[in-house]
Amino acid sequence: MSDSVKVHLEGVSKTFSSGSREVTALEDVSLEVGEGEFVSIVGPSGCGKSTLLRLVAGLHEPSSGTVEIRSSRPGRPKTAMVFQEHALFPWLSVRDNVMFGPRNRKVSKREATEIADEQLGRLGLARFGDFYPHQLSGGMKQRVGIARALAQDSEILLMDEPLGALDAQTRTLLQEQILELRQQSQPTVLYITHAIDEAVFLSDRVVLMSARPGRIREVIELDFPLSRGPELRGTKEFAALSQGIWEHLRDEVQAAMALEGP
Ligand code: ADP
Ligand code: MG
Repeated sequence: MSDSVKVHLEGVSKTFSSGSREVTALEDVSLEVGEGEFVSIVGPSGCGKSTLLRLVAGLHEPSSGTVEIRSSRPGRPKTAMVFQEHALFPWLSVRDNVMFGPRNRKVSKREATEIADEQLGRLGLARFGDFYPHQLSGGMKQRVGIARALAQDSEILLMDEPLGALDAQTRTLLQEQILELRQQSQPTVLYITHAIDEAVFLSDRVVLMSARPGRIREVIELDFPLSRGPELRGTKEFAALSQGIWEHLRDEVQAAMALEGP
C-alpha cells in the first residue's frame, strides 16, 4: 500500500454464526483511508457499519479478505474508538479517564496528566478534569470520550455514531468542534453516522453502504475546503449533496426495513 494510505481493507466479508443461524454482516468491502483523511460511512441500521469499525479495531477477524493498518511509529496504538454511549469509567475522574490510555502504555504520570489536560482543553473541558462522569451532561461526556480517544494518539480514530445520542443543538455544536479538531491536527478518521448532513459537513469522502449484507454502494468525494465553517450548511452545494446522498440511502433503508419483515 502507498505511503499515504493508513488503512486498507481488501475484499472484507464477515459472517457471524450463532447456533445454526448465519448472518452475513459485510460482503466484499474494499476501502482505503489516507493519512489525515476523514471518511464517513452511512447506511441503514444493521448494514454492518459497527462491524466494519470493529474489524478495523481488531475486535473481529474478517471471515475473508484483509484489514491492514500502517504504523508510522513503533508503539503507537493503531486505533482508538469513540462510541455512541461514552463508555467512560464512572469511578474515575474525567482527567483519569483521559489519562487511562497513555498510562496503560506506560507514559509517566506527569506526562499523561499533561496529555489529558491538553486534550480536555481542546474540547473546552479544561475546568472539568476533577469532575466525575455522572456530574456531566450527555454532550460533555461525549466530549470526554473524544478527548480520551485523542489522548491515545492512535494511527486512526474510529468513531461509531459519536453524536447519535445527543439532542440536535448539542450535536450541531459538537460537529463544529470535531471540524475544528480536524483543522488543528488532521487526524485520520473513520466516522460512522446516520446523519447525512453530519457526514457532508465533516468529511472528505462519504461511503454509502447497502442494506445487509453491507456492501459499498457508492463513494461520494466532497471537495469542500478544510477551512469550511458553519456557513457551509447554508449553501446550495451542501443541500444538493445531502439530498443526493439521501436519495441513494432511501432505497437501502427501505430494503433494510423489508429484511426486518412484518
Ligand atoms: P450497524 O452498525 O450498521 O447497525 P452492525 O455492524 O451492528 O450494524 O450489525 C450488522 C449485522 O450483524 C446485524 O444483523 C447484527 O445483528 C449482526 N451482528 C453484529 N455483531 C454480531 C455478533 N457479535 N454476533 C452475531 N451477529 C452480529
Ligand atoms: Mg452500529
